[in-house]
Amino acid sequence: MQTLTTHSRHVQQFPTGLVLRYRHLINDNHVAHIPFTLFPSPFPKSLYKECLEIQPSVNTLMTKIANDIDFIEETLSPIAQVDDFTRNLLKLNKIVQKEGLAQPIISCIIRADYMLDKYVCDSQNKLRIRQVEMNAIASSMSAHSHNTHSLHKYLRSKYKLSDPEQANVMYPENQSLALVAQGLIEAFNLYKNGQAHVLVVTEERSLNFSDQLLVELEVHKIRPDIRFVRRRFVDLPELITLGPNKELILGDSKEIGVVYYRYGYDPTNYNFREAWDVRLTLERSRAIKCPSINYHLSGAKKFQQVLHDQKQLERFVDHYDAKRLSKASCKFWPVDAATSEGEEGFRVGLGSSKSLVLKPQREGGGHNIFNQDIRPFLESIADSEERSQYILMEYIDSPLERNWLLLQDDIEDVKRLTTSDQLVSELGIFGSVIADGSNIISNEAAGYLIRSKKYGVNEGGVASGYAGISSLILYDDDGSQLTASSNASEFYQI
Ligand code: ADP
Ligand code: MG
Repeated sequence: MQTLTTHSRHVQQFPTGLVLRYRHLINDNHVAHIPFTLFPSPFPKSLYKECLEIQPSVNTLMTKIANDIDFIEETLSPIAQVDDFTRNLLKLNKIVQKEGLAQPIISCIIRADYMLDKYVCDSQNKLRIRQVEMNAIASSMSAHSHNTHSLHKYLRSKYKLSDPEQANVMYPENQSLALVAQGLIEAFNLYKNGQAHVLVVTEERSLNFSDQLLVELEVHKIRPDIRFVRRRFVDLPELITLGPNKELILGDSKEIGVVYYRYGYDPTNYNFREAWDVRLTLERSRAIKCPSINYHLSGAKKFQQVLHDQKQLERFVDHYDAKRLSKASCKFWPVDAATSEGEEGFRVGLGSSKSLVLKPQREGGGHNIFNQDIRPFLESIADSEERSQYILMEYIDSPLERNWLLLQDDIEDVKRLTTSDQLVSELGIFGSVIADGSNIISNEAAGYLIRSKKYGVNEGGVASGYAGISSLILYDDDGSQLTASSNASEFYQI
């Protein structure tokens, strides 16, 4: 509590649950304020709109991928040969599809992440958006980003920060939390048993527990009749069984209508003996999974590489969606040894002076290899089958912005806050999609997450301590021109 008080003197009176547990705090009853920026982050209005408008196409694309088992197999099986985690996910997907789904309705809460990219066109410096990745499982921070929007609003008002002088700036409402809650409510309604529960599957020690609990509270505000139960994944072997019609039963008699995974995206989550059996039981059940295993697989980074150009995308979505999606895509290469494209990508990775990122088939931060580290790494796996699990991606060259980033490390260092930081931001857009097989029932997009990290820091996670949550201030841009106005300090004349 002392930490909370010291760190957030300014926000004590603002009880929004904007907190995280940290491993270094005394115990799980101690929390600290989530890392955040002092001011909203400027973003060009037209490019924000572009990200928001793409989201229904992202939702559609992931639904199409999820329903194409052959394509999933064909694309991910080379990875499965060298990666147990992908192999197990594919195996489970095949088992449940072959058995026939007890629950045809599938749901997914997606967060597609983007960064601004600087480029030169007709000798002018411009900005465009580039997609970083699409998260299909445990897409987090909807509550914290919604609340950071309110926090910034409150701080502006409390310290009488005049609204920016520039004409045509706006603070878009952030419907992220409502969107996630609505997605779960719709899934629950489709289960058609009002007595059932929503099961939130959590890690053993949820550092980001409050982002999860706030989703539950938001659902409760709208539908107090929907009951939630939170259980740790590791505890489920003792707790779940299937009923005669594959109803998912928790404990003696709680029927589960919706399984909401906030865990299960990383191999380390499956480090207990019964882990894969538990996941199989959940997937086999009649409960609606958010996400179902095929939606989970559709978020694999490999699909971004395979589907990065318009022609490939048109296999799955219409011309219009394919055009929008490919416009926001980076260039990608495979680096496997089995195909000529892979050999070409491998050479690009070894030889190029261009900025690149090498990504394995992993989620959750800390796995990527950046720029000059790529060459020695590729050399070390040159003769290994492992090459097939990596994709090579262009580095997104984001503009810097001046703002103040309050990280956990700053708790005692109040003086540091006299100077601002050079930050780089990443924008996430939330989507919620529910489908009956490939027939989309609900396709929603709303709300954002904007995170800022210090320039030069490669990884971008908030819970992992690299970035802080911000909110958006949108400025009118002249055809995505790179303007000097991307500094919070200029907007507020500080
Ligand atoms: P994860 O699943 O670990 O979140 P990401 O693909 O989101 O994987 O990468 C983690 C972080 O690395 C991102 O949040 C972003 O800050 C940075 N990053 C990823 N791809 C790129 C890229 N192409 N260019 C620049 N930075 C990138
Ligand atoms: Mg990410």
